[in-house]
Amino acid sequence: LEQADKRFLWHPFTQQQAWEAEPQLIIERAKGCYLFDSKGRPYLDGVSSLWVNVHGHNHPALNAALQAQLQKVAHTTFLGLTHPPAIELAQRLATVTPGQLTRVFYSDTGAAAVEIALKMALQYWQQCPDPQPQKQRFFSLANAYHGDTVGAMSVGQIDLYRQAYAALLFSPVHADPGIPCSCPLSCTRHGVPCIHEVERIIAAHHRELAAMIVEPLVQGAAGIRVYPAGYTRALWELAKQYHLLFIVDEVATGFGKTGRLFACEHEGIEPDIMALGKGITGGYLPLAATLTTEEIYRAFLGPERTFYHGHTYTGNPLCCAVALANLALFEQEHTLDRLQSRIDQLGQGLRQLATLPGVVATRQCGIMAGIELQTSPEQPHPERPVLQEARRRGILLRPLGNVLVVMPPLVISEQEMTFLLNTLSIILADRNG
Ligand code: PMP
Repeated sequence: LEQADKRFLWHPFTQQQAWEAEPQLIIERAKGCYLFDSKGRPYLDGVSSLWVNVHGHNHPALNAALQAQLQKVAHTTFLGLTHPPAIELAQRLATVTPGQLTRVFYSDTGAAAVEIALKMALQYWQQCPDPQPQKQRFFSLANAYHGDTVGAMSVGQIDLYRQAYAALLFSPVHADPGIPCSCPLSCTRHGVPCIHEVERIIAAHHRELAAMIVEPLVQGAAGIRVYPAGYTRALWELAKQYHLLFIVDEVATGFGKTGRLFACEHEGIEPDIMALGKGITGGYLPLAATLTTEEIYRAFLGPERTFYHGHTYTGNPLCCAVALANLALFEQEHTLDRLQSRIDQLGQGLRQLATLPGVVATRQCGIMAGIELQTSPEQPHPERPVLQEARRRGILLRPLGNVLVVMPPLVISEQEMTFLLNTLSIILADRNG
């Protein structure tokens, strides 16, 4: 199998990860926070399989929901037809998300949810009661990552992911994060532009800006970069003040990872549009959703106002059924109440790791953590040996550049978290010894 994988498959980001290709790990089953390889060896899933398995793997309630729906209907077009799981899930999402997000548009990946958000915002300004068709651009933050489709890449600001495709992309309006900042909580230290610089740019461009798109509280793929407290709210207030739609990308932060169901809740933010994905089905099936307000939806009613977007698998019944069960688990298992002590435990562990030589900084937002390692000309990729050793010791993690990312399932136990933190501590200390 390993040979056939190497011969026939094209894994995402392959070249970047070539170092870890030997030997290829073949995962055959999973349970709780563990993945098991073809030899039966367990690995603690330290990144919840790319930030999705919020309730762990192979959960009986999610399995049951999927099997029950399989007995009914696996797929039907959502163009003109509907079905109970899609309706019930939309009702639940409208209830649990912040603010006035009462309209749900389904798609299948986080990037698609972002793409839809951008298209909605653009078309809204052409069709709203007070049309402003010149509003055609988007403001996004330095270091932003919003996905790999063309629109999502365009509002992204990590060069690595954009440079080869520049000919396809439009350019977002952005503020310089490098301008020295004297705010009490320096924004530049967090990798984001000073809020005053953002205001200056928005004031200069607001007439052409359709929307601002941001990840609330923390930029995940940028290396778990946590904003200063109140920063996201200040961005929202600027968006309101200058009549920009406020799009939040909660693809990474949504479904409990910040300690609340949605990151917006921490700062009382009520977005106009919200993109969801990843944890929405608890890591079971590809589903994403773009939520918006009734006011925005109303601009799409009437002749010649159609929103031209629709996927083949939009609103797939299996995905919606498992997403409903996934949401229900948060209540049934009191997931977020129980999570708080794991977040505290992670925080303590990170403080200890931050004291080790070679660790530049540790950052945390809820159960999302980044451990930034010192690079040098001799060792441009310090994360690689650490991840290899972690795998040898039975823990799977993934890097973002020189940042080790830790984002286990929300249901990780105290013992599992201790194992994860102690192992990292031993590996990082040994490396320096
Ligand atoms: N937005 C954010 C904030 C993300 O972290 C990601 C994925 N890491 C995406 C969008 C894209 O999601 P997907 O990979 O499901 O397309």
